[in-house]
Amino acid sequence: MIKLTYMENYEKFLKSIDGDLAKIFENQKEYICCKEGCSLCCERGDYPISALEYNYMMIGYDKLDSEIKSKIKENTNTLIKENKESMYVCPFLIEKRCSIYENRPIVCRAFGVLTEDAKGNPTFPFCATLGLNYSQIYDKEKNHLSSELVEKNNMKVFPRIFRLSNKVVMNLPLAKQLNIDFGEFDTMINFLKNKGLN
Ligand code: SF4
Ligand code: SF4
Repeated sequence: MIKLTYMENYEKFLKSIDGDLAKIFENQKEYICCKEGCSLCCERGDYPISALEYNYMMIGYDKLDSEIKSKIKENTNTLIKENKESMYVCPFLIEKRCSIYENRPIVCRAFGVLTEDAKGNPTFPFCATLGLNYSQIYDKEKNHLSSELVEKNNMKVFPRIFRLSNKVVMNLPLAKQLNIDFGEFDTMINFLKNKGLN
């Protein structure tokens, strides 16, 4: 049997995750407004990632042309100078597109559906408040999922709540089977500060 390198194993893992996420987004498509050009979720996050994901992002970064790399460096330096710790525009967002899309971290792949908080309550993607994902069934006053609105809007599929936190995804049996070591966790900006760009 051919021995896969750790990055090949990670890519195998990502392929499986992407397949599962595609099914999830397809199942919830009535509620999903994501489309090319909408990048609000890349403009106000903390982007928690692992060291492995950061290294994988750098593989994507290495393949970019020098002009895009310079823009990313400039964005990163500005964030560091401004001491941004949270709610910042991702430095890899260039002209409203992810410049390292194939190498983006798991949090970016999974964002956009209903998830659950630590107590198991539904958590809306923030864009529900902006008339985007799940806004048809979002009760603004109660900050809650409204069954009445599901009925009133004749939604065909009931909204499902998915367990897609990094912790859950990275502890999937496949991650163990493939022997994936995600390494330390931190925010994207801290990895950029501590490890820098290539
Ligand atoms: S999750 Fe929301 S903000 Fe992000 S692309 Fe989809 S609709 Fe836009
Ligand atoms: S890595 Fe890409 S998808 Fe993730 S926040 Fe940055 S620009 Fe958006």
